[in-house]
Amino acid sequence: MPFLSLGLSPELVRAAGELGFSAPTPIQAEAIPAILRGADLLGSAQTGSGKTAAFALPLLQQLLAASPEQPPRGARRVRALVLVPTRELAAQVGEVLRSLGQHLAQPPKVAVVFGGVSINPQMMGLRGGADLVVATPGRLLDLVEHNALKLAAVHTLVLDEADRLLDLGFADELARVLALLPARRQNLFFSATFPPAVQALAAGLLREPVRVEVAAPEGSEATIEQRVIAVDAGRRSPLLRHLIQDNDWDRVLVFVATKYAAGLVADKLYKAGIYATAFHGDLSQGARKQVLADFKAGRWDVLVTTDLAARGIDIAQLAVVVNYDLPRSAVDYVHRIGRTGRAGESGLAVSFVSAATEAHFRLIEKRQHLALPREQVPGFEPTEVAAPAAPGPGGIKGKRPSKKDKLRAAAAAQGR
Ligand code: AMP
Repeated sequence: MPFLSLGLSPELVRAAGELGFSAPTPIQAEAIPAILRGADLLGSAQTGSGKTAAFALPLLQQLLAASPEQPPRGARRVRALVLVPTRELAAQVGEVLRSLGQHLAQPPKVAVVFGGVSINPQMMGLRGGADLVVATPGRLLDLVEHNALKLAAVHTLVLDEADRLLDLGFADELARVLALLPARRQNLFFSATFPPAVQALAAGLLREPVRVEVAAPEGSEATIEQRVIAVDAGRRSPLLRHLIQDNDWDRVLVFVATKYAAGLVADKLYKAGIYATAFHGDLSQGARKQVLADFKAGRWDVLVTTDLAARGIDIAQLAVVVNYDLPRSAVDYVHRIGRTGRAGESGLAVSFVSAATEAHFRLIEKRQHLALPREQVPGFEPTEVAAPAAPGPGGIKGKRPSKKDKLRAAAAAQGR
């Protein structure tokens, strides 16, 4: 089915063609006509399914339809607002909107705003308004408070990666943004997963939504080989090095638990002659952009990253994902392994499991209905055995000082 038959203008179809999109992906074929009709949409889709263009194209088409009514001069009013969880995703979505809109007679003004960088250039960029705003919630609110933009004319709201927005603690900001929007508007809601908080948000937000599900999104487990290697925690770096070198892996994304670990693991690999670098939230925005561009261009073979930094990044032909540290939840596991096997290609996800993390991985498997064999790599056979489980429920909880413990300790410290 060609794009033209979905009701898009030839200029948009041309721009899509230039990006290599000759025919709509399944989510685009379903979502675009529904959005153009003005319906609310509930999309269950991961990055990799083509969901960005699924909302970007109809947003641009709607803009086109609306433009004759808009005053030719004066401040542009924000017509569509796209809320995203991370700066990388904001930049990526902004780029797609600009590329797809470039051949329109009046190319739309797209503003991309996110935190972690100076607010002033963003305020300047919003002078005269913007047609489409892509934003992380916190910075958007800051800009509204500075009177840099008004949201009263927003016609369409897009929540991209809604599950992650909530995961990252944006619930309060989201509620504040929603309160600033006109009640009558179109809502497009995309999420990879639907835990109860996301379902509640969708239920409160959407009116008779058209549901679009990508049953087998590119990047789903079907195309991803999942392997689990048992190894002692202290031997993970040498094992990783061995695997990368032995298998000639490139385009590897390695997940670790902390920014500090990202630096450490990347350093060890680099010193062993592997083109590895860290990608995390402590890098400046410019450095993150550069690292990502270099990785995409193949100048780095290995990116060592945290969940937060990696979310939403679209990197074509990512061959391997390694869980050096296990993800905290089954949901994060799915997000992580979904980084590979994109666009119908096969991918490999390798998880390192040690005596200390075996029980945690079993929980992830249970949630995901998986039972993966534990492999051992010759020369890296594990020697550690799991410590006996702590008594009672919530063993990990018991190890931390409770609030009362802390208060007691503070009182004792003050009293002496
Ligand atoms: P997304 O799910 O929006 O992150 O898109 C995933 C990847 O699919 C991106 O690299 C897009 O450029 C690409 N893509 C999106 N739509 C199409 C299409 N209709 N045909 C081919 N590739 C597409």
